[in-house]
Amino acid sequence: FRASTEGAFMVFAVLFGFVLLYRKLSEELDLKLRQRNFTSAVTHELKTPIASLRVWTETLFTRELVPDQRQRIRGLMEKDLERLNELVGNLLDVARAESGSLVLHLAPLELGPWLAGVCEGMDHRLGPGALGLKLECSSDPLWVDADPKALSTVVENLLSNAYKYASEPRQTTVTLDGDGEDVLLVVSDQGHGISAKDLPRVFHRFFRVGDEMTRQVAGTGLGLFLVKEIVTRHGGEVRVSSRGPGFGSAFTIRLPRRAVPEAS
Ligand code: ADP
Repeated sequence: FRASTEGAFMVFAVLFGFVLLYRKLSEELDLKLRQRNFTSAVTHELKTPIASLRVWTETLFTRELVPDQRQRIRGLMEKDLERLNELVGNLLDVARAESGSLVLHLAPLELGPWLAGVCEGMDHRLGPGALGLKLECSSDPLWVDADPKALSTVVENLLSNAYKYASEPRQTTVTLDGDGEDVLLVVSDQGHGISAKDLPRVFHRFFRVGDEMTRQVAGTGLGLFLVKEIVTRHGGEVRVSSRGPGFGSAFTIRLPRRAVPEAS
Protein backbone atom coordinates (compact mmCIF):
# COMPACT_ATOMS: atom_id res chain seq x y z
CA PHE A 1 0.00 0.00 0.00
CA ARG A 2 2.85 2.31 0.98
CA ALA A 3 4.72 1.67 -2.26
CA SER A 4 1.62 2.43 -4.33
CA THR A 5 1.00 5.70 -2.36
CA GLU A 6 4.59 6.75 -2.96
CA GLY A 7 4.28 5.81 -6.64
CA ALA A 8 1.09 7.84 -7.00
CA PHE A 9 2.75 10.76 -5.27
CA MET A 10 5.74 10.58 -7.63
CA VAL A 11 3.48 10.46 -10.69
CA PHE A 12 1.50 13.42 -9.33
CA ALA A 13 4.71 15.40 -8.64
CA VAL A 14 6.06 14.72 -12.14
CA LEU A 15 2.73 15.67 -13.75
CA PHE A 16 2.57 18.84 -11.66
CA GLY A 17 6.12 19.69 -12.75
CA PHE A 18 5.15 19.23 -16.39
CA VAL A 19 2.11 21.46 -16.00
CA LEU A 20 4.25 24.22 -14.43
CA LEU A 21 6.89 23.87 -17.15
CA TYR A 22 4.24 23.95 -19.88
CA ARG A 23 2.67 27.08 -18.41
CA LYS A 24 6.03 28.86 -18.09
CA LEU A 25 7.03 27.94 -21.66
CA SER A 26 3.71 29.00 -23.17
CA GLU A 27 3.81 32.30 -21.23
CA GLU A 28 7.29 32.97 -22.64
CA LEU A 29 6.25 31.98 -26.14
CA ASP A 30 3.19 34.20 -25.86
CA LEU A 31 5.36 37.18 -24.76
CA LYS A 32 7.86 36.51 -27.58
CA LEU A 33 5.03 36.41 -30.10
CA ARG A 34 3.54 39.61 -28.71
CA GLN A 35 6.99 41.27 -28.79
CA ARG A 36 7.45 40.32 -32.43
CA ASN A 37 3.99 41.69 -33.29
CA PHE A 38 4.88 44.81 -31.31
CA THR A 39 8.08 45.44 -33.27
CA SER A 40 6.29 45.20 -36.60
CA ALA A 41 3.39 47.31 -35.26
CA VAL A 42 5.76 50.09 -34.08
CA THR A 43 7.68 49.99 -37.37
CA HIS A 44 4.41 50.30 -39.25
CA GLU A 45 3.10 52.98 -36.87
CA LEU A 46 6.24 55.09 -37.34
CA LYS A 47 6.66 54.54 -41.05
CA THR A 48 3.08 55.27 -42.14
CA PRO A 49 2.81 58.86 -40.83
CA ILE A 50 6.43 59.62 -41.81
CA ALA A 51 5.81 58.44 -45.39
CA SER A 52 2.61 60.44 -45.57
CA LEU A 53 4.30 63.58 -44.15
CA ARG A 54 7.00 63.23 -46.81
CA VAL A 55 4.38 63.13 -49.58
CA TRP A 56 2.52 66.17 -48.20
CA THR A 57 5.73 68.21 -47.75
CA GLU A 58 6.75 67.45 -51.32
CA THR A 59 3.28 68.38 -52.57
CA LEU A 60 3.37 71.68 -50.68
CA PHE A 61 6.75 72.65 -52.14
CA THR A 62 6.37 71.41 -55.70
CA ARG A 63 2.74 72.04 -56.65
CA GLU A 64 0.71 75.15 -57.19
CA LEU A 65 -2.15 74.83 -54.73
CA VAL A 66 -5.25 76.89 -54.03
CA PRO A 67 -5.75 77.98 -50.37
CA ASP A 68 -8.42 75.29 -49.82
CA GLN A 69 -6.06 72.52 -50.86
CA ARG A 70 -3.30 73.91 -48.63
CA GLN A 71 -5.70 74.01 -45.72
CA ARG A 72 -6.77 70.38 -46.29
CA ILE A 73 -3.15 69.19 -46.49
CA ARG A 74 -2.35 71.10 -43.32
CA GLY A 75 -5.16 69.26 -41.50
CA LEU A 76 -3.88 65.88 -42.72
CA MET A 77 -0.30 66.74 -41.68
CA GLU A 78 -1.52 67.74 -38.22
CA LYS A 79 -3.25 64.33 -37.87
CA ASP A 80 -0.02 62.51 -38.87
CA LEU A 81 2.01 64.56 -36.39
CA GLU A 82 -0.57 63.88 -33.70
CA ARG A 83 -0.31 60.13 -34.36
CA LEU A 84 3.51 60.26 -34.13
CA ASN A 85 3.36 62.37 -30.98
CA GLU A 86 1.00 59.92 -29.24
CA LEU A 87 3.10 56.90 -30.21
CA VAL A 88 6.41 58.44 -29.10
CA GLY A 89 4.77 59.67 -25.86
CA ASN A 90 3.46 56.18 -25.05
CA LEU A 91 6.79 54.53 -25.91
CA LEU A 92 8.69 56.93 -23.66
CA ASP A 93 6.22 56.49 -20.78
CA VAL A 94 6.42 52.68 -21.03
CA ALA A 95 10.24 52.83 -21.08
CA ARG A 96 10.14 55.09 -18.01
CA ALA A 97 7.65 52.81 -16.23
CA GLU A 98 9.84 49.77 -16.89
CA SER A 99 13.06 51.41 -15.73
CA GLY A 100 11.33 52.75 -12.62
CA SER A 101 11.86 56.37 -13.68
CA LEU A 102 8.23 57.29 -14.32
CA VAL A 103 8.05 59.93 -11.60
CA LEU A 104 4.60 61.15 -10.60
CA HIS A 105 4.09 64.59 -9.10
CA LEU A 106 1.01 64.08 -6.95
CA ALA A 107 -0.99 67.10 -5.88
CA PRO A 108 -4.64 67.69 -4.94
CA LEU A 109 -6.77 67.67 -8.08
CA GLU A 110 -10.48 68.34 -8.46
CA LEU A 111 -11.47 65.78 -11.06
CA GLY A 112 -14.67 67.35 -12.47
CA PRO A 113 -13.29 70.50 -14.15
CA TRP A 114 -10.03 68.75 -15.05
CA LEU A 115 -11.91 65.87 -16.75
CA ALA A 116 -14.09 68.30 -18.73
CA GLY A 117 -10.88 69.93 -20.07
CA VAL A 118 -9.28 66.59 -21.05
CA CYS A 119 -12.49 65.45 -22.81
CA GLU A 120 -12.77 68.75 -24.66
CA GLY A 121 -9.13 68.49 -25.80
CA MET A 122 -9.62 64.93 -27.08
CA ASP A 123 -12.89 65.83 -28.81
CA HIS A 124 -11.02 68.58 -30.62
CA ARG A 125 -8.05 66.32 -31.51
CA LEU A 126 -10.15 63.43 -32.84
CA GLY A 127 -12.45 65.72 -34.81
CA PRO A 128 -15.27 67.64 -33.08
CA GLY A 129 -18.24 65.34 -32.43
CA ALA A 130 -16.49 62.21 -33.77
CA LEU A 131 -16.52 60.50 -30.35
CA GLY A 132 -20.22 61.21 -29.76
CA LEU A 133 -19.08 62.15 -26.28
CA LYS A 134 -21.41 62.50 -23.31
CA LEU A 135 -19.84 63.64 -20.02
CA GLU A 136 -21.76 63.05 -16.78
CA CYS A 137 -20.05 64.47 -13.69
CA SER A 138 -21.39 64.33 -10.15
CA SER A 139 -22.16 67.80 -8.81
CA ASP A 140 -20.16 66.87 -5.68
CA PRO A 141 -16.60 68.26 -5.69
CA LEU A 142 -14.47 65.11 -6.11
CA TRP A 143 -10.82 65.48 -5.15
CA VAL A 144 -7.92 63.02 -5.51
CA ASP A 145 -4.14 63.19 -5.18
CA ALA A 146 -2.96 62.89 -8.74
CA ASP A 147 -0.42 63.79 -11.37
CA PRO A 148 -2.63 65.63 -13.90
CA LYS A 149 -0.33 64.95 -16.86
CA ALA A 150 -0.09 61.19 -16.20
CA LEU A 151 -3.81 60.94 -15.48
CA SER A 152 -4.53 62.77 -18.76
CA THR A 153 -2.57 60.04 -20.56
CA VAL A 154 -4.93 57.50 -18.94
CA VAL A 155 -8.13 59.24 -20.07
CA GLU A 156 -6.70 60.09 -23.49
CA ASN A 157 -5.70 56.47 -24.15
CA LEU A 158 -9.16 55.22 -23.13
CA LEU A 159 -10.90 57.82 -25.32
CA SER A 160 -8.54 57.12 -28.19
CA ASN A 161 -9.47 53.39 -27.95
CA ALA A 162 -13.18 54.24 -27.75
CA TYR A 163 -12.65 56.09 -31.03
CA LYS A 164 -10.47 53.43 -32.71
CA TYR A 165 -12.52 50.37 -31.79
CA ALA A 166 -15.95 51.71 -32.75
CA SER A 167 -17.45 52.80 -36.02
CA GLU A 168 -19.65 55.77 -36.75
CA PRO A 169 -21.92 56.94 -35.28
CA ARG A 170 -19.89 56.54 -32.08
CA GLN A 171 -21.44 56.87 -28.64
CA THR A 172 -18.92 57.37 -25.85
CA THR A 173 -19.89 58.11 -22.28
CA VAL A 174 -17.60 59.35 -19.52
CA THR A 175 -19.01 59.37 -16.00
CA LEU A 176 -17.49 60.60 -12.76
CA ASP A 177 -18.97 59.78 -9.38
CA GLY A 178 -18.08 59.30 -5.74
CA ASP A 179 -18.29 55.78 -4.25
CA GLY A 180 -17.68 55.83 -0.49
CA GLU A 181 -13.96 56.40 0.06
CA ASP A 182 -13.28 56.29 -3.67
CA VAL A 183 -13.95 58.08 -6.93
CA LEU A 184 -15.14 56.16 -9.99
CA LEU A 185 -14.31 57.31 -13.50
CA VAL A 186 -15.91 55.20 -16.24
CA VAL A 187 -15.24 55.42 -19.97
CA SER A 188 -17.70 53.32 -21.95
CA ASP A 189 -18.38 52.91 -25.64
CA GLN A 190 -20.85 51.15 -27.90
CA GLY A 191 -18.07 49.84 -30.15
CA HIS A 192 -16.83 46.40 -31.13
CA GLY A 193 -16.48 45.11 -27.58
CA ILE A 194 -14.04 42.47 -26.28
CA SER A 195 -14.63 38.72 -25.97
CA ALA A 196 -14.56 37.06 -22.52
CA LYS A 197 -11.37 35.17 -23.36
CA ASP A 198 -9.49 38.39 -24.23
CA LEU A 199 -10.75 40.53 -21.33
CA PRO A 200 -8.12 39.36 -18.80
CA ARG A 201 -5.30 40.03 -21.28
CA VAL A 202 -6.04 43.53 -22.58
CA PHE A 203 -3.82 45.17 -19.92
CA HIS A 204 -0.82 42.96 -20.77
CA ARG A 205 2.14 44.64 -22.41
CA PHE A 206 2.01 44.35 -26.26
CA PHE A 207 -1.35 42.53 -26.22
CA ARG A 208 -3.73 43.21 -29.11
CA VAL A 209 -6.87 41.24 -29.89
CA GLY A 210 -6.03 38.95 -32.81
CA ASP A 211 -9.07 39.64 -35.01
CA GLU A 212 -9.29 41.19 -38.45
CA MET A 213 -10.93 44.38 -37.16
CA THR A 214 -8.05 45.11 -34.71
CA ARG A 215 -5.46 44.41 -37.41
CA GLN A 216 -6.97 47.19 -39.51
CA VAL A 217 -6.65 49.69 -36.64
CA ALA A 218 -3.32 51.35 -35.78
CA GLY A 219 -1.90 50.30 -32.41
CA THR A 220 0.98 48.77 -30.45
CA GLY A 221 -0.68 47.10 -27.45
CA LEU A 222 0.94 49.56 -25.02
CA GLY A 223 -1.92 51.97 -24.26
CA LEU A 224 -3.79 49.87 -21.70
CA PHE A 225 -0.57 48.57 -20.14
CA LEU A 226 0.31 52.20 -19.48
CA VAL A 227 -3.22 52.97 -18.23
CA LYS A 228 -2.93 50.19 -15.63
CA GLU A 229 0.60 51.18 -14.63
CA ILE A 230 -0.35 54.84 -14.05
CA VAL A 231 -3.61 54.08 -12.22
CA THR A 232 -1.86 51.55 -9.95
CA ARG A 233 0.84 54.13 -9.18
CA HIS A 234 -1.98 56.43 -8.00
CA GLY A 235 -3.09 53.75 -5.52
CA GLY A 236 -6.10 52.94 -7.70
CA GLU A 237 -7.28 50.12 -9.93
CA VAL A 238 -8.72 49.72 -13.40
CA ARG A 239 -11.20 47.10 -14.61
CA VAL A 240 -12.72 46.32 -17.97
CA SER A 241 -16.06 44.78 -18.79
CA SER A 242 -17.77 43.96 -22.05
CA ARG A 243 -20.81 41.94 -22.96
CA GLY A 244 -18.72 40.57 -25.84
CA PRO A 245 -18.04 41.45 -29.47
CA GLY A 246 -20.52 43.96 -30.81
CA PHE A 247 -21.75 45.20 -27.43
CA GLY A 248 -19.19 47.84 -26.46
CA SER A 249 -16.75 48.01 -23.55
CA ALA A 250 -16.51 49.86 -20.25
CA PHE A 251 -13.29 50.76 -18.43
CA THR A 252 -13.73 51.66 -14.76
CA ILE A 253 -11.04 53.50 -12.84
CA ARG A 254 -11.24 53.58 -9.06
CA LEU A 255 -9.07 56.17 -7.27
CA PRO A 256 -8.83 56.90 -3.54
CA ARG A 257 -10.78 60.08 -2.76
CA ARG A 258 -9.19 62.82 -0.68
CA ALA A 259 -10.70 65.58 1.42
CA VAL A 260 -11.24 68.99 -0.19
CA PRO A 261 -7.99 70.93 0.43
CA GLU A 262 -8.40 73.68 3.01
CA ALA A 263 -7.17 76.53 0.83
CA SER A 264 -9.85 75.94 -1.86
P1 ADP B 1 -3.59 49.39 -29.00
O1 ADP B 1 -2.39 50.23 -29.30
O2 ADP B 1 -3.61 48.11 -29.78
O3 ADP B 1 -4.88 50.13 -29.09
P2 ADP B 1 -4.13 49.02 -26.14
O4 ADP B 1 -3.19 48.51 -25.09
O5 ADP B 1 -4.68 50.37 -25.95
O6 ADP B 1 -3.33 48.88 -27.49
O7 ADP B 1 -5.32 48.00 -26.25
C1 ADP B 1 -5.03 46.59 -26.31
C2 ADP B 1 -6.10 45.88 -27.15
O8 ADP B 1 -7.33 45.85 -26.44
C3 ADP B 1 -6.41 46.57 -28.47
O9 ADP B 1 -5.52 46.17 -29.48
C4 ADP B 1 -7.84 46.12 -28.74
O10 ADP B 1 -7.79 44.84 -29.34
C5 ADP B 1 -8.44 45.98 -27.33
N1 ADP B 1 -9.21 47.18 -26.94
C6 ADP B 1 -8.78 48.22 -26.17
N2 ADP B 1 -9.76 49.13 -25.98
C7 ADP B 1 -10.84 48.66 -26.62
C8 ADP B 1 -12.20 49.14 -26.81
N3 ADP B 1 -12.61 50.30 -26.26
N4 ADP B 1 -13.04 48.36 -27.54
C9 ADP B 1 -12.63 47.19 -28.07
N5 ADP B 1 -11.38 46.69 -27.94
C10 ADP B 1 -10.50 47.40 -27.24
